[in-house]
Amino acid sequence: MSDEQTTIAELRSLIDSFVDERDWQQFHSPKNLSMSISIESSELMELFQWLSLEEAKEVMKAGETRENAIDEIADIIIYAIAFCNRNNIDISNAIKQKMEKNIKKYPADKFKGHF
Ligand SMILES: [Mg+2]
Repeated sequence: MSDEQTTIAELRSLIDSFVDERDWQQFHSPKNLSMSISIESSELMELFQWLSLEEAKEVMKAGETRENAIDEIADIIIYAIAFCNRNNIDISNAIKQKMEKNIKKYPADKFKGHF
């Protein structure tokens, strides 16, 4: 399963089936899922908590921390997709709409190389 071979719809279905088979929809309120996204984000940040900028880049090249970071980013995305599944949010539309807002808010000619 790679990005080139997988659709967002397939990922949605994979996560939805996992949740359905365990009857976990009852726990998937917007509150619980949004908190879960934040908790998993904190777990990702914890991996880099005491590292310098350069050390953080280095551990992402290979090894245990990279593998743990991959697990945590997957957790974040899984909960984000579960949030969209439960709340009838079209992920592609949501990203396109938000990117259009970002492009207007941060025109490249004014923000290139800085914030
Ligand atoms: Mg986690």
